[in-house]
Amino acid sequence: MEIDWSAIDKKWQKKWLENNDHEIDPNNKEKKFITVAYPYPNSPQHIGHGRTYTIADVHSRYLRMKGFNVLFPMGFHYTGTPILGMAKRVEANDAELIEGFKTLYKVPEDKIKEFVEPVKIADYFHEEIKSGMIEMGYSIDWRREFTTIDPAYQKFIEWQFRNLKEKNLIVQGSHPVGWCPKDQNPVSQHDTLGDVEPGFTEYIVIKFDLNGIKIPVATLRPETLFGVTNIWINPQVVYQKIKVNDEIWITSPECARKLEFLGKKIEVIEDILGSDFVGQSAKAPHSSDSVLILPASFVKSDNGTGIVMSVPAHAPFDYQALLDSKSGKNKSINNDLLKNIQNIEPISMINTEGLGNIPAKDIVEKMGISHQDDPKLEEATKEIYSKEFYDGILANNTKQFAGKKISEAKDEIKEWITKVGSADILLELTNSPVKCRCGTECVVKLLSNQWFLDYSNKDWKQKAHRCFEGMNILPNEIRSEFDKVLDWLRERACARQHGLGTKIPWDKEWLVESLADSVIYMAFYIISKYVNKKEINGNDLTDEFFDYVFYGKKDSGEIANKINITKEKLEEIRNEFLYFYPVDSRHSGRDLVPNHLTFFVLNHVALFPEENWPQEIVVNGSVLMAGKKMSKSMGNIIPLRDAVRKHGADPIRLTILISAELLQDADFNVEAINGIKNKLESMYENSTKTKAEEIPELEPEDKWILSMLQNLALNVSQSMDKIRFREALHHILYDFDSKLQWYLKRTKSKQRTNISGILHKILSSRVLMLSPFAPHIAEEIWEKLGNSELASKSTWPSSIGIEIDSKSIQTETLLKSIIEDINNILKVTKISPKKITIYTAEQWKSKAYNSILKNVLDGQTNIGTIIKSLIANKETEQIKKDPDFVKKTLNDILSEPVELRKGRMNVGQIDEKQIISSELSSLVKNDYDVELSVFSESDSEKYDPKNKAKAARPFKPAILIE
Ligand SMILES: [Zn+2]
Repeated sequence: MEIDWSAIDKKWQKKWLENNDHEIDPNNKEKKFITVAYPYPNSPQHIGHGRTYTIADVHSRYLRMKGFNVLFPMGFHYTGTPILGMAKRVEANDAELIEGFKTLYKVPEDKIKEFVEPVKIADYFHEEIKSGMIEMGYSIDWRREFTTIDPAYQKFIEWQFRNLKEKNLIVQGSHPVGWCPKDQNPVSQHDTLGDVEPGFTEYIVIKFDLNGIKIPVATLRPETLFGVTNIWINPQVVYQKIKVNDEIWITSPECARKLEFLGKKIEVIEDILGSDFVGQSAKAPHSSDSVLILPASFVKSDNGTGIVMSVPAHAPFDYQALLDSKSGKNKSINNDLLKNIQNIEPISMINTEGLGNIPAKDIVEKMGISHQDDPKLEEATKEIYSKEFYDGILANNTKQFAGKKISEAKDEIKEWITKVGSADILLELTNSPVKCRCGTECVVKLLSNQWFLDYSNKDWKQKAHRCFEGMNILPNEIRSEFDKVLDWLRERACARQHGLGTKIPWDKEWLVESLADSVIYMAFYIISKYVNKKEINGNDLTDEFFDYVFYGKKDSGEIANKINITKEKLEEIRNEFLYFYPVDSRHSGRDLVPNHLTFFVLNHVALFPEENWPQEIVVNGSVLMAGKKMSKSMGNIIPLRDAVRKHGADPIRLTILISAELLQDADFNVEAINGIKNKLESMYENSTKTKAEEIPELEPEDKWILSMLQNLALNVSQSMDKIRFREALHHILYDFDSKLQWYLKRTKSKQRTNISGILHKILSSRVLMLSPFAPHIAEEIWEKLGNSELASKSTWPSSIGIEIDSKSIQTETLLKSIIEDINNILKVTKISPKKITIYTAEQWKSKAYNSILKNVLDGQTNIGTIIKSLIANKETEQIKKDPDFVKKTLNDILSEPVELRKGRMNVGQIDEKQIISSELSSLVKNDYDVELSVFSESDSEKYDPKNKAKAARPFKPAILIE
């Protein structure tokens, strides 16, 4: 049956709106406060964005049906530089950007013209995103909507910043930041192409001495200085002789530029080709000996200083380059130099259990590496590095450090080299190249006299750790990532020169950065409702107002008076805050773990009392398009609104959710949408056929299917509580279908006409379970089923109020397995049956069966032990005649699911002969059009021409087909 998805979407969205169903105020019910990271409106949302919001909406709707008063609000994050960059590109008539607006985003041309104003871009896409969210059926309380440039919000951020500064959590200082040299602005994840967070690598620079000129080498392993045999320089690179403060250094030009951003005064003296240094010697800081400077092609000018020290015993690159040098094939090495090189041998200086004396040699040979440009060297380096870092002990030739572990001595050695005046620090981007949204490659800059959030503060970290410990994190496997992030977090720049947002209240030249003004705004959803209703004026808000609403500080009457509202209104706002806070669940994509989500917790613990700390974080993976990453350049981005127009909201919601659990990447493709549509259409069709008739006296198959329904309700509820939505959907939509088919087969063969009431009950329960996921079609089906209340306002069917009937489960399992056995026999023998005879096991076998089952449930599966105990018992000693029986029965039991075994124990013996006679005859007649005869093995007069009866076992009757 074809469904007009769009008409159904509109019909129910209108109904929810008319009823103000999603406008949530405090009431006497228990509350839940669900929030999602608000969108940055610089483009319309695509399918990928839909995932997090859909998960949060399903979560909200589920909790509402469970009886909670659930607030799910939304705001819009205007803060930051990307929109500014876009506006500039529009002004410059950037053809690519404008074409994208026109063709991909379908922005009208007169609107694009207005986009030279950044706010116009944000406003346009804000409305676009909001419409998409409404069309997706998200149950958002739109009365609380705001943007981060609203006057009231700016007052709120000023309050936040003054508060953090008072607590000494915002400090002024010099710290490294990711930096765009063109914009002259720090960059973080929101400012970069591809949303990458710039990470830093700190190198130690060790300065070798060449007749008073410094040859600086950058390394992550200063401890290996004791194993240095020579220095590598790239003979092809043009290096620079530069004046660094008062010293003369030789570095690559890239390094000279990096040093400048790190605050060093640099003066370029002249260019010198790398090959000019080949064959010269420089003195190491730890000894009076000099080491040779040799040529190597693996040394890259954009890495470190462009010069490295060689530790061939422990660094695979160095070992291989030394071999290459010794080979005599390198033209820039003359014969005299070659002789000297032949004398260079690796110096081992770290002992590591499991590694040889010269580990670099071993791994190069093991991996079959034959030249220094082999990419496998990276892997080899990593392997040795981590083994030596954790298990390596410094050898006797490391002087005062001998006997220490690398992981412990690293910092001491760093300190020692620095003390003798021969070391410096070089910071590089770990994940370079990182590009700013303006296209410029970013660098590390040492920013001085800047405002930083002091995320390196130990007490602050400690408090945040405590908050995480008490929090629910879904999925829990991501918990350790948060701990790691907290541990490595350092001071973080929180001011920007350009962009939209709030000015730093005490330093108006600077704006609050976008990952700093988006950490406690969940509290603002309480206030925004009153601003939007014009009950308070955003421009009037003061720090005292926020102190009262969030902390209850000072006298409400006095504060209310100052901001022109009544004391009662102010107290109402405070009470609403107390009612909704803390945040019960924060939903976000995985990419926000290392920044936003961690900052969210840090700022809450800094600014709110413990009872208002966040309760839960839910993290989800991204969405792939037919197995591929979505990107503009791949041309596989589907705007969310387009998809909804084409397929309807519910099929999109389900397709996004059903392919993956939280942390996995979801895959979106057209076949999947069609599969979902077919499924929903068939449920819809069934709803037009089933009537709410009275439920008859229950037959075995009725008890069974209702037990299965009860099981479904329990399983789905469990999945929902863990936000395992993929699993829940599979239970609701697919797993139950095979059961329903068996039920329909059973009832059809019995020619029953009184099952409509039961089918109605089943479909009703499934539709309610489907309602949080596919709210529109669920309402439509619910209405067709004759309900006048909304499905979304009904109670979640945690239980359908029926006790699980274990006996019916045993009965139906038995019948199903007999039908399967008959089908298998027919498949093998290829006969067309004329007569079917079934033999059930005799009494002593049932007793033996129960005894074996009890053994298995008690953990005893040793066949010898079981046989002994059976023989010892008079009731079962007959197994002596048939020892094979025990083995086969034990296998029968072990091949059944544990639940079924337990059920069998509880139910005890069932009368198989009676059940098969009364329930299976009609099925056999229906399926094969033959008569069924049933005998017990112990019947004295039975039809048993092939002597089959003796093979019967409990739950495994013998079958004769003729
Ligand atoms: Zn830039």
